[in-house]
Amino acid sequence: MKVVVPQIFDEFHCIGTDCPDTCCVGWLIEIDDASYERFMKLEGEFGEHVRKNIVEREDGHFFALDEEGKCCFLNKDHLCEMVIQYGDKMLCSLCDNYPRIGNEYGSLREMGLSLSCPEVSRLLFSSSRRILFGEWNTLEKDKTPDYTKDPIFMTLMDLRDELFGIMQDRRRTICERLCLYLILASQLQEILDASADGEERAKTMERMEALELRYQDENYIKSLLDSRFKKGETSEKDDITVLLDCFDELEIINPTWRKMHETLASRIRSMTKEELQEMATAFGQAQNARAYEYEHLLVYYIFRYFLKMIFDGDIYSKAAMVAATILYTYLSGALTYKEKGEFTLEDQIKLQYLYSKEVEHSEENMAVLSQDFWEVDCFDVVSLVRDVTSLICL
Ligand code: SF4
Repeated sequence: MKVVVPQIFDEFHCIGTDCPDTCCVGWLIEIDDASYERFMKLEGEFGEHVRKNIVEREDGHFFALDEEGKCCFLNKDHLCEMVIQYGDKMLCSLCDNYPRIGNEYGSLREMGLSLSCPEVSRLLFSSSRRILFGEWNTLEKDKTPDYTKDPIFMTLMDLRDELFGIMQDRRRTICERLCLYLILASQLQEILDASADGEERAKTMERMEALELRYQDENYIKSLLDSRFKKGETSEKDDITVLLDCFDELEIINPTWRKMHETLASRIRSMTKEELQEMATAFGQAQNARAYEYEHLLVYYIFRYFLKMIFDGDIYSKAAMVAATILYTYLSGALTYKEKGEFTLEDQIKLQYLYSKEVEHSEENMAVLSQDFWEVDCFDVVSLVRDVTSLICL
């Protein structure tokens, strides 16, 4: 089996008690079957304590949380009582692996690090170096089905490589790169939808390969960018209000996030369109030297979600989610800059890990947003390209 990882993968080490947050609060920790069996056999008083704190639900076994949403094994020093008692080997696989995350496609496993961990967020944003990927082979048996034998999947991988190149092309602005991603995703979605409706696979392949070739042509890319909306042409303020409404609906994982979101939403709702534009422009000018932070975000989200299309046929709503993420966190940064006069690296790290924890790590929240990104008009490609063009000034 081939394993692909981003370069920062090996640089990660949990910082334990120095962590400004913890991964043991705010979400349910599901216990895998092998760990559950192990916990059932633990002896003595602590074994009894472990069993008492396992909750059985229809969808599996979970550790009990206290009234503040903390895992019952997290002590006041932010250490895990289970590890203190038995060592790391006793951890269930979710706790043992976090923040490492993976997607499997048969003979290919892609591993990454979740941005919801503050230390991962720090690693990601602390360097302007382009994100590179490494790979190695393991002796593990390939899983079935093996998607890497599917020509459509292989073409998707080529298209993703093309996208990484575009996302990391620093001759273009972040705004241009994000628009190109949105347009490519909507074109690809059209092809995949036709395939789902019965178009012959050979035809689908032909159209995907033609799309890949088009994005290697500078003139084509230039014509796409030239045909976008011009700044201030339409009422993107209304779209941003709808975006904020979507985030209002989410289940709250972290109270700090709730405060941040409520502040952002109320400030933006009270602004005029011109004030919003002014705030976005001033932030872009101030952050120009740190545009690579948004490039890293684009690469992180594309690596994590693009190929998952093979499981659900959805490429566009994932791109819309990335655009919404960049818009939301860009405006949040812009508000901090407007009110504090600065937006530091620490502010970015905190904003991005809280956002990721809230959105990526709640299946319910992801489901709510995915549905919105499919159904709500202001997330169609024309509206999002217009909003990004107007407001992302990097
Ligand atoms: S969130 Fe990350 S750094 Fe913090 S305790 Fe968990 S794994 Fe360690």
